Amino acid sequence: MHGGQPQSHREAFRCSECHSPFFSPVDWEYAGRATWQIRFRCGACGRFERHVLNEDELEALERRLDQDTSEMLAAIELLARTDEVDVERLLREET
Ligand SMILES: [Zn+2]
Repeated sequence: MHGGQPQSHREAFRCSECHSPFFSPVDWEYAGRATWQIRFRCGACGRFERHVLNEDELEALERRLDQDTSEMLAAIELLARTDEVDVERLLREET
């Protein structure tokens, strides 16, 4: 499912301990010269790491996070819809 766009799988987006791609930023500060020092936390093993990213890398990270978030929201929405259906069916069976 990868189109013509070049894949940019930066090591900074992966945990150096367990290589999990779910490495979310918890804190960041401007590090000068259009770079930011980001503090990441690995959701898989709980490791903290600091990485300095430039604007392009930061943008790529944001896109990644947006993607993950929307996938998560879609999953939650699906669950919510399933619950709704079950409730409706139960109500119908009772009446
Ligand atoms: Zn990890």
